[in-house]
Amino acid sequence: MLFLSGMAVLGLLFGSFANVLVYRIPRGESIVWPGSRCPRCGHALAWLDNIPLLSWLLLGSRCRYCREPVAFRYPLLELLMAVSWTYLAWLTGPQWLLAEALVLFFLLWVLSFIDLETGLLPDALTYPGMILGLMFAVLTGHAADSLLGLCAGYGIFWLVGRVFLMLTGKEGMGHGDYKLLAMLGAFMGWQALPFIIFASSFVGAIVGSLVLLLARRGVRTEIPFGPYLALAGMVWFLWHEPVLRWYLDLMAPVQ
Ligand SMILES: [Zn+2]
Repeated sequence: MLFLSGMAVLGLLFGSFANVLVYRIPRGESIVWPGSRCPRCGHALAWLDNIPLLSWLLLGSRCRYCREPVAFRYPLLELLMAVSWTYLAWLTGPQWLLAEALVLFFLLWVLSFIDLETGLLPDALTYPGMILGLMFAVLTGHAADSLLGLCAGYGIFWLVGRVFLMLTGKEGMGHGDYKLLAMLGAFMGWQALPFIIFASSFVGAIVGSLVLLLARRGVRTEIPFGPYLALAGMVWFLWHEPVLRWYLDLMAPVQ
């Protein structure tokens, strides 16, 4: 119990750090200096203004100094990090796999929110992610699966991108998506790729058509693909055993 509550607090703190990354990496700002500031009035935030979730609730979701509303993303990302990290800790217990899971989910949340806000998946996150994925795979004895996952992840999307470009003359996917799939392959091995590609395209197509329907009413149409890849990766990481069993049952010849 102490382990899980500790993980929830740690998740909130890292969620808070994730918010710093989401804001600063696309702007090319340093992630360690200066300390947190209000993006509007530039006032430095005291530690009291900076407690995950609590400050947002106590200050009525506004900056204490200029009363600018604080984006809902701040408490949301803190909460998502805390909930997912606690669940992962409950699922795996203290072992190497947990360390790997925490790093993977941290990167996926940060990348998803950056992609949602800017349409970019920065190399500053995907490249270190690939290296960390390979590193954990070496520690847990899955180095070959991981290396193959990395290369296949990049290669498949690169190939799809080429074909799409030839057929339509347009870039279908961003190169950030290639790198994110490579990172997912490095963390989870090549076995994860078919599900991630299928699930993200399927959900992406459904949401995409809904958005196109709404677009006539003036909703912006371009939606980034990164969050679908990230979510599909999370689902595979958490539930690949039941997913695999369901898939094999489906494919099994009828008796
Ligand atoms: Zn302010």
